[in-house]
Parts: sequence; structure tokens; C-alpha cells
Amino acid sequence: MSREVHNAARAAAPRPLGACPRLSEPMETGDGLLVRIVPSGRIGIDAFASLCVAARTHGNGLMEITGRGSLQIRGLTEISAQHLATTIEALDIPFNDRIPVAVSALPGATGTRIRPDEIAAELRDMADRRRLDLAPKVSVVIDDGGPISLDALAADIHLRALSGTTSPRLHVSVGGDIETAAPLGIVSAADAAQLTVDLLAVLAAGGTQARARDVVAREGVGRFLKAAGDLLETASDIPAARTTETIGLHRLDDDSCAIGVALPFGQAHALDLIALARIARANGAEWAVLAPQRTLLLGPIGEMTAFALGTAADTLGFVVDARDPRRRIAACAGAPLCASGHIPARELAARIAERVPQGKFSLHISGCSKGCAHPRPAPLTILGIEQGAGFIDSDAILHLPRSEAYSDDLVEEVARKIVAESEDA
Ligand code: SF4
Repeated sequence: MSREVHNAARAAAPRPLGACPRLSEPMETGDGLLVRIVPSGRIGIDAFASLCVAARTHGNGLMEITGRGSLQIRGLTEISAQHLATTIEALDIPFNDRIPVAVSALPGATGTRIRPDEIAAELRDMADRRRLDLAPKVSVVIDDGGPISLDALAADIHLRALSGTTSPRLHVSVGGDIETAAPLGIVSAADAAQLTVDLLAVLAAGGTQARARDVVAREGVGRFLKAAGDLLETASDIPAARTTETIGLHRLDDDSCAIGVALPFGQAHALDLIALARIARANGAEWAVLAPQRTLLLGPIGEMTAFALGTAADTLGFVVDARDPRRRIAACAGAPLCASGHIPARELAARIAERVPQGKFSLHISGCSKGCAHPRPAPLTILGIEQGAGFIDSDAILHLPRSEAYSDDLVEEVARKIVAESEDA
């Protein structure tokens, strides 16, 4: 992180609710200020532990990994957010506070031929030199086509490695995820950073609120293609979307492994993460990587060590089994962590998860109508509203709200519904 970011953090006023938080621009929430960083690659295991210590020291200790694999630190004050920025500046963490670049979580994993972390580093340097003034939520995704798919992540610029080509190349699209973004063509890995900066420059030229999906909707991809010039080849096909499981064992090229564990509902206490990082380190792990689906990957480790580490993570309360019912419930921060929350979404989620079996149900618990944790409709949603909590089922009916935040009856009712549907399936 640059000194510029640190200085910005010193001067920054908290961002209003609803804006996109950064390290230099914290966002006001119900439990103080929140900052977010998007690491573009591996974090040394000691640096990761130090990051968690800083979250404990300067915040309230609550840390989150988002569905996109970003890290959030909660419970800061204006002063402590500045101290946190100073601490993070001194750690070797690959990220850019102005342009979030999400990369595949396991560079060098079996079957991958490009290094998205290296493209991201080159891109960060180039973008810093160009001083592009971009809309706050502009983002880039670089997917190496390996075991951790980023296909479902929407981004302004989306790059996905192609398999079966003689030289490493990436499919390029703009304004969406792999299925919804507008395809532009194919770029070589060597030109990927330059091309991405050129495409970002198109957005910067459109003003400080310009987003790729709006440009495409308004005028198509012409301006992007013009900016790309000779760097793009025509693509005959759009890569098929992949879904992957982040939890569990992942094999790396050198016969070692990484293990993925998820934070329950995306949140954990810094002390538990510090404990996990120290156990991982004692077992030989050298790095931690943040991944989509609220997952932390630790490696490189041997297969037997992964088993021991998984047991330790389970004891600390992390999700180590993809079939864990907590994986089937998307719950936002809710009250009291979020000032807009009408119900304690994660507390409610934990109570329901204890009562339901493993299965294929999908439940969304949202502290308010914004629906941060699950942007698409879910088969069953518990919604916090001013008068209490209600639920929306597949008929899209809002059942009458309870008069309090939520009741034992609601927990039992929803759990019963999930169990009944699981038995019918
Ligand atoms: S959905 Fe949840 S996290 Fe998002 S604003 Fe509402 S209460 Fe807050």
C-alpha cells in the first residue's frame, strides 16, 4: 500500500452508508467504522496474523470475508482507522485501495498457466502511474481458470484464462459476470495488464460515476474495442461458466495442498483467525488467501496436515464441510452491526442452522430490504422490516410480521419448513 493511501486515510471522512468502503475511506455502520480491502494474491501467514492482531487492536475484533473474497474489519473509530491503515501499510499485503482487483485464490494450482497475482501487480503499477479517476465501485476480476472459479463475480473488466490454447491467453468481457458481461475478445497474458488499464481509461474518460455495464447498455462495446486496438483477437466462443467448491482440499502443482475453510456467515473473531493462522503456521503453512464464498485458504501443506488443520478449524467454529447447513444460509450483518438492520440476521441464522439437517435448501436472512448478502431472490427469505420480521417464500408472499425483532416461533417455523422441504426432495 502506498503512502498516498495512508495520508488519505488520515484525512478521510467516513463514507456514508451505502457507499463502497475502502481502507482510506471507512464506512459508518452500526458498530463503528468498517474498512474493506481486496487482496490480489497470497498474504504471508505472519502478515495475515498481524492483520488480525491489528483488527483486534484497532477495531472491535470482528472480521469478515465477503462473498467476493474481500476482507472487512469492523468496529473502528476515525482515529483507530488511521492507526489500522498505518499498520497495514507496513505489512506486505498485495492490494490497491483505489481499484479492487479480485484474482483467483490459488495461483500456481494444478492446471493453471497464468499468474493472475502477477498481472494484478503490473496492473496496479500501471493504473497508479496513469492516475485514473474511476467510479468508487469499479472492479476487475482476473480468473486463471483453476480450481477456484471467479466466473460468478460481476466486474467492470472480467478476464478469464482459456484452456487448450498454445500460449496463455484470456477471454475479456466488460460489465458483468462470465455469463452476463459483454464479450470483447481474447488477449495474451503478456498484454493483459496493459489492456485492462486501457479499458479502465475508457471508464475514467466517462466521468467519476461511469460503470462498464452502463456504457455497454447505452452505446455498446465500440469505445472499449477502440481503446483495445491491436491487443485483442476475436473470440469465437464465450467460456462456459464453472461452479467450484472452495471448502476442503485443493491440490497444488508441487504435490502440496491448500485447505479452504469458510467463516460462518462470513464473519469470525480476530482471535479465532489468529489462532487458526498460528496453528497453520506451526503445521508448515506459508500463506493465507481470501476466496469467494467467504472462504480462507491456507497452504502449502501436506494432505495429512490438512486433515489436522481442518479438525482445528472445526474446533474453532469455522465451516470445514461443504454440506454444513451454515453454508446454505446467506445472512447479512443485520442488527446491531448494521445501522439499517431491523433483525439480528446472523444470530437468527445460527439458531436456524442448529435445527436443520445438511441438505440443498437455500435461505436468505436480510436485516432490511437491501438484501446485501444475497443479491438474487432465494426460495425462502427472512426479512427484517420496521415492525419486526417476516418471511417471503417461493410464492413471493410477505407473511405478516411479528411484533418483535424475531421470536422462537419464527425460528421453529422456518426450521420446520426447511426440514419438510428437505424430506420431500
Ligand atoms: S441488508 Fe443487512 S447489511 Fe445490508 S443494509 Fe440491510 S441490514 Fe445492513
